[in-house]
Amino acid sequence: MARFDVAIVGAGVLGACVAYWVSSACRASACVLEAGGAPAMHASSRNTGVVHSPFYLDPASRGEMAASMVASRPMWERMARRSGAPWREVGVLEVAVEDAQRGALERHARWGPQNGMAEGDVELLDGRAVAALEPNVRAAAALRCRTEAATDFARLTRAVLAEAEAAGATVALGHDVTAVSHAGGARALTARGAARIEAGLVINCAGARSLQVARMLGHAAGHTALHFRGEYWRAAGEHAGMVGTSVYSVPRYPEYPFLDPHWIVRADGRAEIGPNAVPVAAPEAYSGTGGARAVASKLRDVASGGAARLLRDPAFLRMAVGEWRSSLSRSAMVSRIRAFVPGARARMFTQRGMAGIRTPIVTPAGKMAPETMVEVSEGACSVLNYNSPGATGAPAWAARLVRRLCEGGHLAPAGGAGRGEWSMAEALGQG
Ligand SMILES: Cc1cc2nc3c(=O)[nH]c(=O)nc-3n(C[C@H](O)[C@H](O)[C@H](O)COP(=O)(O)OP(=O)(O)OC[C@H]3O[C@@H](n4cnc5c(N)ncnc54)[C@H](O)[C@@H]3O)c2cc1C
Repeated sequence: MARFDVAIVGAGVLGACVAYWVSSACRASACVLEAGGAPAMHASSRNTGVVHSPFYLDPASRGEMAASMVASRPMWERMARRSGAPWREVGVLEVAVEDAQRGALERHARWGPQNGMAEGDVELLDGRAVAALEPNVRAAAALRCRTEAATDFARLTRAVLAEAEAAGATVALGHDVTAVSHAGGARALTARGAARIEAGLVINCAGARSLQVARMLGHAAGHTALHFRGEYWRAAGEHAGMVGTSVYSVPRYPEYPFLDPHWIVRADGRAEIGPNAVPVAAPEAYSGTGGARAVASKLRDVASGGAARLLRDPAFLRMAVGEWRSSLSRSAMVSRIRAFVPGARARMFTQRGMAGIRTPIVTPAGKMAPETMVEVSEGACSVLNYNSPGATGAPAWAARLVRRLCEGGHLAPAGGAGRGEWSMAEALGQG
């Protein structure tokens, strides 16, 4: 049996960043337990790959993530340069497809600077200016943001994990944590196919399975996890240059935690459209529904908790049907993009991209949790609902979490500037 001060469950981008700070800025031995055979095989590789700017986040409710994104951007850029991960300054247009959406753009133009972006980073354009910039994009108006970049978060995650290992962390792949029990003053973790591990503090960064792990830790009673698959279609080479920047439309369902499908310019220059948000039954249902048993089990889970409300909400059911339509029919998916790229045709998108799963958490009151949730108890901390733009904000968001755990006496800070490429001061905006 091995013994560590801290066991981090999950080697996605969040677990890797938490491991970095625990091993470089705390007096603690750390171990990362990852179920898969490699790090970042789920949301941290299966995403849009955009280093987002926080103009579209309401500073009143999402200020912590917004500040984390602003602080993390230069940290990611340096890490990309150091590790050879791609980094491409793509920029983005957020487009109003009808006049009624102009108000949202004006709001976002105010939120950018309120969230710490420089004044000149966002700019409002009228329809004519949009057409001059991107002749194949049609919009009533747009918000242009130059600071969005495209990268490969899986490569960045592996680079951060290597830094954590260099600072002393142990990474244990193939360790699927199935149970956690009390063992004296510590927690004992049982991982499928591995020896028991004891830790003084367990930090749950298990992504789409974080609610399962939270239940092992006695956290998140009464909550439900939903899973939405985001699918992409890749533009054939000759059509990739049709639009040179990434383009999002103003979200039609701001109450749900995802944007409508975008035109995406990837870090390697390929163009894709997506993601949609197709409800599925299991956290790794990258095609199909997740299987009949998973569907039955998820329906029971939903019907018995606060999320049951959603099944009676006509707006949610309409959205779910529309998303499934865009999963089954390439034309239906492309028609959503044609709202702002009218020349897009289904035949231009010849190959599916790599789908990913987002897992919003529904509270016992039946509401989608608007922000990331953190629950801390003696010897255990769970992070739930860590969704987009989570990869962008991970370095600084993880630093804030580790600081909070130090302030609560769950971890001991190392003192001094810390080791490693990133410093706590810059992550916390004090550098
Ligand atoms: C379709 C899509 C598009 C997105 N686009 C963007 C974007 O453009 N920009 C952006 O900033 N964010 C984006 N996001 C969000 C971002 O990808 C996530 O917020 C982020 O990757 C979450 O990281 P994580 O470490 O919490 O989860 P994950 O990457 O899922 O990692 C969790 C890890 O925990 C492991 N695990 C689970 N259970 C156990 C267990 N019991 N024992 C051991 N290990 C376990 C899993 O195997 C996994 O490796 C997107 C997400 C999706 C799905």
